[in-house]
Amino acid sequence: MEYQLNPKIAGLEPYEPISGEYRIRLDANESYLPLPQEVREKMAEAVGKLAFNRYPDPFCKDLCAAFASYYEISSDLVTPGNGSDELISILMTAFLMKGEKVLTIEPDFSMYRFYASLAEVECVSLTKNSDFRICVDSVIEKSRQNAVRMIIFSNPCNPTGQGLPREEVRRLIASVDALVVLDEAYMDFWDQSLLQEVEQYDNLVILRTCSKAVGSAAIRLGFAVANPTLTKALRAVKSPYNVNSLTQQMGTHLFSCKKEMKILRNRLFFSRDMLYNGIKALEAAYPGRLCVYPTCTNFVFLKTGEAKRIYDYFLKNGVAIRIMGEYLRITAGEEFENNEVFRLLDEILKK
Ligand SMILES: *Cc1c(COP(=O)(O)O)cnc(C)c1O
Repeated sequence: MEYQLNPKIAGLEPYEPISGEYRIRLDANESYLPLPQEVREKMAEAVGKLAFNRYPDPFCKDLCAAFASYYEISSDLVTPGNGSDELISILMTAFLMKGEKVLTIEPDFSMYRFYASLAEVECVSLTKNSDFRICVDSVIEKSRQNAVRMIIFSNPCNPTGQGLPREEVRRLIASVDALVVLDEAYMDFWDQSLLQEVEQYDNLVILRTCSKAVGSAAIRLGFAVANPTLTKALRAVKSPYNVNSLTQQMGTHLFSCKKEMKILRNRLFFSRDMLYNGIKALEAAYPGRLCVYPTCTNFVFLKTGEAKRIYDYFLKNGVAIRIMGEYLRITAGEEFENNEVFRLLDEILKK
């Protein structure tokens, strides 16, 4: 007799973003900006004083206070996690019973389905319209028809780059019994956050991350923000020391550097606009070949019948982007990186 993995994990492969070495990485929606020297120095100093022999603060008090002050909310509503990935996993496993249903709105962040499947939760999905806007009435109807217990979606959306206006999100939350998990990973690039009003809802959890606009994917830090009842439950079910002391210190410093963070974000906006405008110009120069979607994020999403050809050409030239069927997703980068995108696109479309 031989040990058999259970069927829910037997076919799984370890997650690997992209294999190989590329001179330009525009495939993971990270910030292309290194943290400023003065922020780094503050962090180095904090690390020098760290009590490595002690367990971290399980409640991340300083970190919660810094995050809350940065976004002007109460720290009683904040639960940090080892990336928002961990929080998604916790929400799926602890807030849903095996066999209960979660609604996703496809295409969306692929990790929702992954953690749902590990939690043995049933995924019901609704497909977005051809223009990728979310129709809130369809979401409400689908969630009622299927008696779903959770609705999870990203706003603005990864991969489509589009956002659902705040008024529509409010209407959705107020119209369903399900817990709404609103993943605002890219909301630093848009102005339609519900963070300020999270306490008004008994069924809302908002997720934020340091991996995108904050430019700190390396430290693995995300946040769940919810009313005190939900927050108490989140804090009770997470593993006690889920955020290590280094990350707590670094996160606390990051959120206390308001001015520097704002400068970084403005540079990301500039780069995003440059990338969007450049690809829009190519869309006009090669009619019918590319269809570029509007973006509220730091990446550009486009549809093209030549996605595979373009993707392969980019890889061959050392530039990594994301392909999803007939769609491409390209993260905004340095000026020279964006220019490489334009040059390669022009070359391959000309062929
Ligand atoms: C990048 C991303 C995250 C961030 O995940 P972390 O685990 O915090 O790095 C979460 N949600 C969406 C939609 C994302 O694109």
